Amino acid sequence: MTKKLGNLVLDRWVEGDGDGTALTSAVDGEAVATLTSDGLDFAGILDHARRVGGSNLRKLTFHERGEMLKALAQYLMEHKQELYTLSTQTGATRSDSWVDIDGGISTLFVFSSKSRREMPNDHVYLDGPPEQISRNGTFLGQHICTPKLGAAIHINAFNFPCWGMLEKLAPALIAGVPAIVKPASSTAYLTELMVRRIQASGILPDGALQLICGGVSDLFDHLNCQDTIAFTGSKGTAEFLQAHPRVVSDSVAFTAETDSLNSSILGPDALPGTPEFDLFIKEVTREMTAKAGQKCTAIRRIIAPAPIAGEVVEALARSLGEIRIGNPASTDVDMGALASQGQRAEVRDRVKALASQADIVYGGHDEFDVVDADIGKGAFFMPTLLHCENPLSSAAVHSVEAFGPVSTVLPYTSLDEAIELSRLGEGSLAGSIVTNDDGVARELVLGTAAYHGRMVVINRHCAAESTGHGSPLPHLVHGGPGRAGGGEEMGGIRGVKHYMQRTAIQGSPQTLTAIGHRWVRGADQLDPGVHPFRKTFEQLAIGDTVVTDSREVTLDDIQHFADFTGDTFYAHTDEEAAAKNPFFEGRVAHGYLIVSFAAGLFVDPEFGPVLANYGVDDLRFAQPVNYGDSLRVRLSCKQKTLRAGTGYGEVRWDAEITNQDEEIVARYDVLTMVATNEQWASVQ
Ligand code: NAP
Repeated sequence: MTKKLGNLVLDRWVEGDGDGTALTSAVDGEAVATLTSDGLDFAGILDHARRVGGSNLRKLTFHERGEMLKALAQYLMEHKQELYTLSTQTGATRSDSWVDIDGGISTLFVFSSKSRREMPNDHVYLDGPPEQISRNGTFLGQHICTPKLGAAIHINAFNFPCWGMLEKLAPALIAGVPAIVKPASSTAYLTELMVRRIQASGILPDGALQLICGGVSDLFDHLNCQDTIAFTGSKGTAEFLQAHPRVVSDSVAFTAETDSLNSSILGPDALPGTPEFDLFIKEVTREMTAKAGQKCTAIRRIIAPAPIAGEVVEALARSLGEIRIGNPASTDVDMGALASQGQRAEVRDRVKALASQADIVYGGHDEFDVVDADIGKGAFFMPTLLHCENPLSSAAVHSVEAFGPVSTVLPYTSLDEAIELSRLGEGSLAGSIVTNDDGVARELVLGTAAYHGRMVVINRHCAAESTGHGSPLPHLVHGGPGRAGGGEEMGGIRGVKHYMQRTAIQGSPQTLTAIGHRWVRGADQLDPGVHPFRKTFEQLAIGDTVVTDSREVTLDDIQHFADFTGDTFYAHTDEEAAAKNPFFEGRVAHGYLIVSFAAGLFVDPEFGPVLANYGVDDLRFAQPVNYGDSLRVRLSCKQKTLRAGTGYGEVRWDAEITNQDEEIVARYDVLTMVATNEQWASVQ
């Protein structure tokens, strides 16, 4: 009997009512599973996410959520083999599955690591520094981000059943927002298997993840302003869902990643025989055939210099001719099948539409060899290349997306024309430029960037390490304007902020310090009782402050520092030359001398809990220091970030150096690692 996919609702696996829709293998047309979500209580699902999932996640700090993602990623790595086996049924080769499964898991790792490095070990994210909005600094502004108190609805496309879920799930969970995932029906069996493993791991708290295999019924009727929707799929569905009365009335945040007629431009310098020409042919071939062209980022439009467009067509036809199509489980196969027979029928129709304005120059027919498979049963499709003679006056090549191994060569006669052709896609997820002329790269990037979410420039210098045209990365934004949906996902911590509300908080420095757990200039300076360097991580209080004695800077000090370091820049060593400089009246102290003297003033030298200084941030010299000036330092404990399990925490100190007239000469943050109580006790 065919397996009926489960729905994970209220932390239990339940089956929908009825027989459900049959899902078949892309490779041999055999039944794989059935799916139905009929009869589920969608209002209850939302309520569970908000009430149970949200509150469980929000109890954790950003770092604890990051640790949770890391544990989950490690667990999935250990259980990925069965996912690979099942993935074959979607038509994916081993390398296609690697992008989907390992790519998805590595997205969890990246978000885990970025959240712990770039976010505080706290419940509130401070978005930028305080804003000075009053004359005396007693009333300031600070942008903060806190998790939305709703559910993240994730509606995914069929082409990446694992990555598609995880790239949305990772930022939502880091933000502290539970997810309700609805995979595309045709490949939902793979998503379901991954969710089963996630649930079996027991790593996510109750309510953090629910799965709906099938339609979403009246789910949207119950949304409110705290919920978010992240959608990947066709433009038509995005428009339909975005117009839902509840989405409109409650301003439900809606991110869409939709169709995209991505282009790749070959620079005029990249003639046949150059490494760039070969790189271009390789890149286009890979983009057309990876995942059988079912990638939202695949190259659909090949923009090539008119004088060599014929050679581009010939080289691509040769390269595509080497692609072995067939059973994706076979190691002799380069390209598997489309995800379903329905998908193949759709791609055929789209090729017909394209062929009304372009000539098919390779492929486009149903007679081709397949390896280890029955061409009559699987959804196999031959790579198909078209050539459009007059691309500026052919609308179809810029608007019809054949979601398969299909692309069209569009010749251009000038860079302006290449830019115009690229823009005719009316908004793309990804664009690429292959050139070894950085002047051309700049002109093309500035001419087309506004129409793209991500652009990659490839030449002989970076090709070996390039991640390629079509690979969205968790560090970089994925999304694009116009036809691409107008949304943005990932992009590191930017992606986390999509699930949070940014709020401008106004108040006194002390109030802002209490809210954000980051000391703000003007807030109370606490007397630490002892030098703060004698305190462990736990003993330190935000606001603990030391004000040092003063130290005079002499001409001998400046000369000595110049001789000792070799920094004999004229402003420190030549009285006459220094005075000609509009900023100085004569020889001045080196900035690094000032900072070094400051350290000499504020450190407490004896062995203590401060383990190391690992850098400074935001160092600014506000005033020159002349010899004869006296320096004094105020050092305040600004922010504490516990590094769980390491025996230390990071402590950021606000340092301000003033002169004898109490004018600020330098400001910066000193970054230190400070032992925890336990660590300190163990080393004494
Ligand atoms: P689709 O029909 O729009 O389906 C996308 C998702 O929306 C599926 O999960 C689908 O579920 C769901 N859906 C459809 N109607 C719905 C409704 N009324 N309410 C709630 N959910 C609904 O797209 P597709 O044709 O399967 O996917 C191919 C398209 O996706 C291509 O055009 C491609 O460009 C685009 N795509 C974009 C990206 C990107 O990152 N920008 C990535 C991959 C694909 P069912 O499957 O159950 O109908």
